[in-house]
Amino acid sequence: MHRIEHFIDGEARVSVDNQWLDVVEPATGGVVAHVARGLLEDVDAAVSASRAAAPRWAATSVRERARLLHAIADGIEVDLEAFAHAESIDTGKPLSLARTVDIPRAIANLRWFADAAIEAGHTAERFDTSTATNEVLRMPVGVVGAISPWNLPLYLFTWKIAPPLAMGNAVVAKPSELTPTTASMLAGVASAVGLPAGVLNIVHGLGIEAGAALVEHPGVPAITFTGGTTTGRGVNQACATSFKKVSLELGGKNAMLVFADADIDAAIDTATAAAFANQGQICLCTERLLIEASVYDRVLEGVIERARALSIGDPLDASTDFGSLISEAHRDRVKAAVGNARKDGAQVCTGGGRPSGLPDRVAAGAFFEPTVLQGIDMDVAFNREEVFGPVVCAMPFVDEAEAVHKANATDYGLCATVCTQDIDRAARVARQLDVGTVWTNCWLVRDFRVPFGGVKHSGLGREGGDDALHFCTEARTVCTASRGTVDASGAVPTGTAT
Ligand code: NAD
Repeated sequence: MHRIEHFIDGEARVSVDNQWLDVVEPATGGVVAHVARGLLEDVDAAVSASRAAAPRWAATSVRERARLLHAIADGIEVDLEAFAHAESIDTGKPLSLARTVDIPRAIANLRWFADAAIEAGHTAERFDTSTATNEVLRMPVGVVGAISPWNLPLYLFTWKIAPPLAMGNAVVAKPSELTPTTASMLAGVASAVGLPAGVLNIVHGLGIEAGAALVEHPGVPAITFTGGTTTGRGVNQACATSFKKVSLELGGKNAMLVFADADIDAAIDTATAAAFANQGQICLCTERLLIEASVYDRVLEGVIERARALSIGDPLDASTDFGSLISEAHRDRVKAAVGNARKDGAQVCTGGGRPSGLPDRVAAGAFFEPTVLQGIDMDVAFNREEVFGPVVCAMPFVDEAEAVHKANATDYGLCATVCTQDIDRAARVARQLDVGTVWTNCWLVRDFRVPFGGVKHSGLGREGGDDALHFCTEARTVCTASRGTVDASGAVPTGTAT
């Protein structure tokens, strides 16, 4: 059986106590590999390697750092098919999705932050007065801990490691224990292209073991975390005690607001994609579909029809556009959420169970049908708690105020989509939605330059663009008097009239 080892100080290593975890292909239920189960000692070794490598990496020119990140991107691109296949096996997502979205996006992450770091180096942050010049230096923090989830494994792994590496930090990364393969493949590419030993270290293992050890490690001054809100709360608490920098990208309970003046067919397409892409396992997926009453039936019927038309099957089959969930345990959680919603009065308009007629190879997989509910309002737990599966609940609204009120009536605040052809309404509603991103007549359209993140229980801080570059650096202000020396007040250099 294939073994996935840690990547520490430039080499593959087994855990100090040689323990392993099963890696399961969720579409079949079969064990496909064993992954090293890292503990504190393994994290210690990775942090030591990072700390040793960090000063030289920080002193390496930004152009050279960027060259190496581009070389890793090139290496992934050359092997795109193998990466996509591994991602599909680990997650159960359609191979076509991994091939067209996950892996290309991982490549783009590496390239974009490499170039952004060069650009940042060109943009001097200087502020001159008649008496002094202030210069802001963006100093790498040293070692960044990066913890990523299973839903978009390499996509989010690279999104987290590229900014700190580009800005001159060493990184200790912990991918999800459920989906370790592509991170490990990236380590192989990094080694092959000559990334210096210790600059990128990968420790595999359970969140409560390797993940917690990384978060609590005194040698790691910054943690960037993407995962569930409950886990994020614990990570935040652990970071608070030692004043670590922390960036948290957490769960969502995202709403789509469809107004009667929308292009209804386009809204139905957008709603279907937003509810069911990656089997509903994207933090940005729509779980609440708010529809203006006058078009409620039309939109609901359209989404039901599109959901039924999705091709559910073996993720490796080119015709499949809807694969398996991440695990049998997660499938059971999604099923339980639907069961509870039914007890609370929900009607299942379509889906709600295991699909029939699956091919033999995946007959025992963690599949759950694309599911549409209706008949419950915002007082029901289903509409407040993240399910993170292919289930969307439709609810009618009578006017803009009710739509906004319902959209905001959760503890989450990651994103929302507004479908309308009235640009004044779109602008008005966007200003009232308590979320980090509002999409108008689109969903999951990303520009790396803009801040990305959530409010309320959906996260802390922003990723993307300058926010990501600034997170993994400390601003150091260097104030230099223009002439002479500064007097005791610190305000005016001697010899000036003011
Ligand atoms: P999770 O919180 O269970 O795990 C995420 C990562 O944290 C994994 O690597 C895990 O091993 C690690 N971890 C678990 N417990 C830990 C601990 N005590 N200390 C340190 N690390 C620990 O989340 P998941 O199930 O892998 O991912 C799904 C969740 O991620 C959903 O809630 C989803 O909304 C969220 N998510 C958010 C975003 C975003 O950008 N906001 C993106 C993707 C996923």
